[in-house]
Formats: sequence, structure tokens, C-alpha cells
Amino acid sequence: MKVLVTGGAGYIGAHTVRALKRAGFETIVFDNLVYGHPEFVPSTELVVGDLADRALLTDLFSRHAFAGVIHFAAYAYVGESVQQPLKYYRNNVSSTINLLEAMTEAGVKNIIFSSTCATYGEPQTLPIPEDHPQNPINPYGSSKLMVERILQDTHQALGLNFIALRYFNAAGADPAGGIGEDHNPETHLIPLVLDVALGRRPHITVFGTDYDTLDGTCIRDYIHVNDLAQAHVLGLQYLLDGGASQCLNLGNGNGFSVQEVIAAAQKVTGRPISVQLGERRPGDPAILVGSSQRVRDLLHWTPQYAQLEVVLQTAWDWHQQRFG
Ligand code: UDP
Repeated sequence: MKVLVTGGAGYIGAHTVRALKRAGFETIVFDNLVYGHPEFVPSTELVVGDLADRALLTDLFSRHAFAGVIHFAAYAYVGESVQQPLKYYRNNVSSTINLLEAMTEAGVKNIIFSSTCATYGEPQTLPIPEDHPQNPINPYGSSKLMVERILQDTHQALGLNFIALRYFNAAGADPAGGIGEDHNPETHLIPLVLDVALGRRPHITVFGTDYDTLDGTCIRDYIHVNDLAQAHVLGLQYLLDGGASQCLNLGNGNGFSVQEVIAAAQKVTGRPISVQLGERRPGDPAILVGSSQRVRDLLHWTPQYAQLEVVLQTAWDWHQQRFG
């Protein structure tokens, strides 16, 4: 069975392509390579193009019979989305409409969509359940919430089946090597901390030390990228088996503070990590931890890399391979 993976040359996309192949699916990657890495998908057909190109999509869907689509392609820098909201709404919302139109025309019924815990905004209860109110506090989160609504409406009107996976903090790398986290610019905590361990940066700045948490720094739910990838495969199989459309959180259900992540990275790397205490970063809630009970029950998903040290070890192995 053939699956279209938009944004498949990116960090999570490339890990999902591997997971799909392990599960016996054939994959076609569609990526504009603005942030993607073609070397992450060496033995997969790669179509270089943009979802804004409607004619290219029509051609793609006429040439292949896809059992489903896994849709990663999007911009995902929260700060940039605040500065350039139209860029985010155009790319994340309009381009998704193009994709859904092309799917509808071709009669492709199943889609797995990359959503985010940023659709919730400031949590009112922890761990966050799926029925928590969704009040995003930045255009990135709003753009993803809009797509969730579009999927629900398209499901009602046209029978499109969807799973929207609301990711918490993706981290780590496939222990098999060759792919991992490499954003440009890099803004994420773990790769930045590992850069310090490698001597590529002088220090890590902790964004805020006066949050209402045990050590005053933000708490996040870090989920290994292979566990994340596996949930996409399970979600697709669930839809192909006739499962009902759903929005599902995807996290570990465990929170770690910024200071705890730095301490664990120091232990895993065996290197000193110089820390500077800094101001809060605008738009950061104090704690984001998700309840993943629904994805466990519905898709029988179980994380294989639940320990933070294991997540960090796989990230460190990749980081040394890529940048060492
Ligand atoms: N963070 C930090 N210093 C950095 C980058 C991130 O203290 O240089 C903090 C950030 O405030 C957040 C956590 O680390 O609390 C995870 O941030 P990241 O950007 O990795 O993911 P996000 O939570 O924004 O999706």
C-alpha cells in the first residue's frame, strides 16, 4: 500500500517514513526542501514541490493510488509565526486546503495530520486531556487548530477520515542512525544543550527561572521521535481498518523541567554544560504535559523510549555523528 508523506524529508517526517517502511508500506515523499533534508530519505521517491502548487498535486494524485496521506509539511517556529502570521496561515492552512482538495478529487479518504499541544494555549488542567479548551496563544497554534476544524468539517461533509495527532515535545533520533534533529535556525532545547556539550555553543540560556514549578523553570513532556512516528503508522492502520476520526494527544505523560533536562544531558554526555539564566521567552506556558491515555487505548500505542536518558542518548549519538 502506498502512502504520501508531505514534509517527509523533515525531522519527524523522515522518522515516520522509516516506520512506514518497517510496517510494509510504500512511501512517496513530497517536500519543498525549505527545511527538509533530502539525505534523510535516500531510498524513497522524493517529489520536490510545494503544496501551493495545485497542478502538481493533481498530477501527483493522478499518477499514484494512495491508501492515505500523512501530512507534516508546515512551518513550525512559534516566534516567527507571531512576527509573520500571514506566512503561517498561507502555508499551514491554505496549502492544506489544496492538499485536501486534491485528495477529495482523487478519492483518497485517509489522512494523518500533525497537530500540536500549542492548540491548547495556557493549560487549565494537567495532564492536558483532548477535550481541554483550545485557545492557542500564537498564530502557529491557531493555524493548526484551523486545520483541525477544516478536517472535522470535511469529515462531516465529504467522508474524509482523519487522525490529528497533537504532539508534545518531539526529541531524540532513530538509534539506527542517519537521521535526527537538525533545524536551521535551531531553537529547541535539547539540540542546543547538545551543541554546548559538543563545544559548538558557549552556553545554554534558560528561558525563565521564576515559573511556578519546583525549580522555577518550564516543564515539558518530551516524546521520542520513533514513538511519535510509530503512532502515525498505527493511526493509519486504524483508519484503514475503518476506525472513527479522532484528535489524539501524543506525549509521554511525564514532565521534565529545563534544569532537569540540562542535568540529564550532562550525565548522558559526560561533558560540562555551561548555563546562563535568562528571561522568560514570550508565549511559553509554565507546564505542558499531555494525557496520552486515549492514544494508548485506541491505537494500542506504547512508548518504547519513555526514559528521558534514553531519549537524550539517542539524540547525543546523532548529534555527534552529524556535528561532531
Ligand atoms: N528553552 C530554554 N532555552 C532555550 C530553548 C528552550 O530554556 O535555548 C526552554 C523553553 O522555554 C521551553 C523548553 O525549553 O520551556 C522547551 O523548548 P523548545 O523550544 O525545545 O520546545 P517548545 O516547548 O517551544 O515546543
